[in-house]
Amino acid sequence: MSIEVQNITKLYKDQKALNDVSFKVNAAEIVGFLGPNGAGKSTMMKILTTYIEASAGSAVVNGFDITEDKRKVQGSVGYLPEHNPLYTELYVREYLNFNANVYGIAKSRIEEVISLTGLTPEAHKKISQLSKGYRQRVGLANALLHNPDVLILDEPTTGLDPNQLVEIRQLITSIGKEKTVFLSTHIMQEVEAMCDRVIIINKGKIVADKYLKDLRAGQEQIVIVEFDYRVEDAFLLKLPKVKSVKNTHDFIYEITFSTKDDMRSHVFDFAHDNDLKILQLNQKNASLESLFRELTS
Ligand code: ADP
Ligand code: MG
Repeated sequence: MSIEVQNITKLYKDQKALNDVSFKVNAAEIVGFLGPNGAGKSTMMKILTTYIEASAGSAVVNGFDITEDKRKVQGSVGYLPEHNPLYTELYVREYLNFNANVYGIAKSRIEEVISLTGLTPEAHKKISQLSKGYRQRVGLANALLHNPDVLILDEPTTGLDPNQLVEIRQLITSIGKEKTVFLSTHIMQEVEAMCDRVIIINKGKIVADKYLKDLRAGQEQIVIVEFDYRVEDAFLLKLPKVKSVKNTHDFIYEITFSTKDDMRSHVFDFAHDNDLKILQLNQKNASLESLFRELTS
C-alpha cells in the first residue's frame, strides 16, 4: 500500500475543508483525485506531503506515518504543488542543481531527470523563457530528483494548451508505470486519459472510489461527432441502440448509446451514407460523466 488515509478531517477556523476522509492507493497505480474547485483536493495533498497538519485522523505514505516520520515521508514523495513555484530567473539546470544541493542529491541525477521529463532541448534556458508546458516539466523533474516511490501532483495539467496537455499526460502515464501517482484534477477527461482509478471528492467528503475499467464496463457510451453540416436530430435517432441526441454546438452532436460496444463505426457509416464529412469523432465514458455530475452537482 502506498497511501493509506484514515479518517482525516481538516478545519480552517470553523470551516471543514476535509470531513472524515479515508481511502487507500495501491503501489504503482495512477489514481485521479477528482472534484470541483474548493472540494478539498489541495488540502489533502498538502497534508500527505506534510506541508500542513490534519486536525484529526492519520495517514501513512510509503509505509511512513505523516506525523511521526515526516522526514521519511518527504523522502519518499515527489510533490508538484498546484501553483508550481519556480524561481523563474534561474536557468533550468541551475534550479535543479540548487534543489539537488539542498537535498544532498548526486549531480548525475540532474541529467537523468532532465532526460526523463523531455527537458533536454530547453534545459539551457531560463525558466522565465519556457512555455507553461515546459515549466510543468521542470516541476516534474524537480519532484523526481530524489527518485521518490510516490508522486503527488496537484492539477498537473491545468492551464496547458491542447498539445502540451497531450505531452504532459503521456509523460505522467509513463512515469506511472514505475511509480505510484496520485494526481488531482477538476476535469473528468484528465482522469479518463491517465488514471486506473478515480476517487471523487465533493465538499470535503469522498463520494466515489472506482476503477475506470469497471466504469467502462457500464452499459452506456457517448459519441461526440462533428459534421460539416447541420443534421436533424431525428435522423441521428435512427442509429442503432441510440438513446438520445444533443446538439451541443454548431454542428457538434453528443449521441448517447445504450451499449458498451464501440458505436463510432455506425456514426461513420451514417455520415458516409448521407454525404456528410466528419470533422471529429470521439467516444466518452458515459458512466464516469454521469457519476461525476450526479455526485458533485
Ligand atoms: P481544491 O484544491 O479541491 O480546490 P482546497 O483544498 O484548496 O480545494 O480548498 C478546500 C476549501 O478550504 C475551500 O473552501 C478553500 O477556500 C478552503 N481553504 C483552503 N486553504 C485554506 C486556508 N489556508 N485558509 C482558509 N481556508 C482555506
Ligand atoms: Mg486545489
